[in-house]
Amino acid sequence: METMPLTAPAHETTVPTLAQQYASDNYAGVCPEVWAAMQEANAGHALAYGDDAWTARASDAFRTLFETACEVFLVFNGTAANSLALASLCQSYHGVICSDESHVETDECGAPEFFSNGSKLLVAPSTCGKLTPASIHEFATKRKDIHYPKPRVVTITQPTETGCVYTIDEVKAISAACKEHGLLLHMDGARFANACAALGCTPAELTWKAGVDVLCFGGTKNGMAVGEAVLFFDPALAVDFDYRCKQAGQLASKMRFLAAPWVGMLETGTWLRNAAHANQCARYFADQIKGIANIAIASPAQANTVFVNACDEILERLTGRGWRFYTFIGGAARFMFAWDTDLKRVDELVRDLRECAQG
Ligand SMILES: *Cc1c(COP(=O)(O)O)cnc(C)c1O
Repeated sequence: METMPLTAPAHETTVPTLAQQYASDNYAGVCPEVWAAMQEANAGHALAYGDDAWTARASDAFRTLFETACEVFLVFNGTAANSLALASLCQSYHGVICSDESHVETDECGAPEFFSNGSKLLVAPSTCGKLTPASIHEFATKRKDIHYPKPRVVTITQPTETGCVYTIDEVKAISAACKEHGLLLHMDGARFANACAALGCTPAELTWKAGVDVLCFGGTKNGMAVGEAVLFFDPALAVDFDYRCKQAGQLASKMRFLAAPWVGMLETGTWLRNAAHANQCARYFADQIKGIANIAIASPAQANTVFVNACDEILERLTGRGWRFYTFIGGAARFMFAWDTDLKRVDELVRDLRECAQG
């Protein structure tokens, strides 16, 4: 019997690459700092299931960045981070107040309800995806009888799914409403870094110092291949969360490869640089298309997203030129910029949009 060669046979790669597109910040690859950290973590053996030095180092990097001894858990994606975090804050008869645009409501296939064994999402109408203290107050007080799920948690998305950023004062006002009604506050921070970059504030100021109890901090859209972190600012809320992750299939056996990317992001300041670049590109795009007739910017470009209102005909022409964008979120064409966005390519999009808008 022939033995297999130890190295793969050399062959030409035939996988095509895509020219930069702005349909999603998930189209971008892995940033160099993350790639380097993963390569370093790949040297030799390490303990499994999070008992390794990279996981300890990443957890410490979060504690340093957030200036507090938070509990840190690393999971594969944002749906798991959000739904497991919410499940850990709720009993099955509880309710979670969220905005009608929120990812937990519109894009997680019922995972928050599934992992919490039935906690109900209490969906509030919103502008630009933002919850208000008034809507929290309304949900918290509208029913006191036993027939309605008991409100227990408020979840806000920072920045929102439609690209708006809550100011620190807005987060504080929401947290005050939560305290008044005995509710916990969860933040979906799939693009948390973009919010910090937009506000120029520290992660601590935007979370526990403003009353946030649990944060899901997104790594994937910030320049990692895979990975989100769940941070509990009150350790009492984190009890047994490791079991919940394992049961849900979210405990990485080779955890060092979920942890090293965070070391590469946090210790070098890359998390903030990547986000600031993406935000700047969104602002640049918004500025460039401002004067174009027949189109309008649908929401303020506060983070790394720009939504464009245009008739179907214009959007079809743009698709015909090979551009990709989503129209199922926020009711307009979404353009989303990432850590690697090339402004020359954005100029091509601007040119095509201008020409398509002229007919
Ligand atoms: C992308 C995103 C998530 C995470 O989605 P996954 O695909 O599960 O990683 C969560 N919340 C918001 C607001 C997002 O945009």
